[in-house]
Amino acid sequence: MLNNKNQIILNREYCPICKSKNCSVLISTNHSRPDFFNFIKFEKYYSKELYEGYAYGILGQLLYEIAECNDCHFIYLTEVLNDVGMELLYNNWLDKELLRVHYSNLPYDIVAERILKLIKTNFSKKDKINVMDFGAGYGNFCSIAAKSDFNTFAFDLSTDKKDHMNSMGINIINNFKKYHGCFDFIWVNQVFEHLSDPLEVFINLRQCLTETGIIYAAVPDCKNIKQILNKKGLSEKLFRLLSPHQHINAFNNMSLKLLGEKAGLKAFAMIDFLKLFNTSLKLNDLKFLIKKTIKNSSWGTGLFFNLK
Ligand SMILES: [Zn+2]
Repeated sequence: MLNNKNQIILNREYCPICKSKNCSVLISTNHSRPDFFNFIKFEKYYSKELYEGYAYGILGQLLYEIAECNDCHFIYLTEVLNDVGMELLYNNWLDKELLRVHYSNLPYDIVAERILKLIKTNFSKKDKINVMDFGAGYGNFCSIAAKSDFNTFAFDLSTDKKDHMNSMGINIINNFKKYHGCFDFIWVNQVFEHLSDPLEVFINLRQCLTETGIIYAAVPDCKNIKQILNKKGLSEKLFRLLSPHQHINAFNNMSLKLLGEKAGLKAFAMIDFLKLFNTSLKLNDLKFLIKKTIKNSSWGTGLFFNLK
């Protein structure tokens, strides 16, 4: 029985990237404030159970506090859900039916398809190319990879999503230690913004790479977050970048690169990725990929990483 918020939260007293304790608080507000409830409602996929938690339970006791690290300037929420809270979020507080409809209506991921095509060319000497989707959702990336004959693995926290992928014949990862040195390519799309310890996860993923393996990580680009916070306060624009429970890290190009560096990886952009291959892609394909990964806002902070 949950009766104390400490059962579900974690206080991030250190910067999640550089571990500095030296930070400035940009905003600090209690979830029980009436105007905060309007902020929560910007999330379309919350379930009845979450709203009941706000009305009668411990959710109203939580704190929404944005801090900026004074050393590396990373911006993040200080009070976030711990593992117990995360399990509740992904298995109870988000409406599974609504989410499934959302995922099934997502457009076919042509960027993923084209990147996989290049990965295939790069590792063409191997019998089987091992790829992993970390934070796989309902398996949209995995289904493209599996159809293209990659040896496809997935990791996700939600039981519902894991069951769904299992039924698609995708290998589900539960323990990273079993997969050290195993993957040629790891896809981490719109995941790091959700994690309480993104550095620890990035280190785990790095250990899962082969010597020549590549990670693609993409997060929302939060380079304007301070202006949005100052001009618009608790607005929908802010919610899209830093929201209670879900988007808890606000990356920009610099902080995503720094995260990789701290994890022992070297970042490179799409253009360098293309240079890695003596690619046979047509000029139009190249232009498409570069435009997609640089310009499109939800992909704005998309980088490739390999071992240093
Ligand atoms: Zn820092």
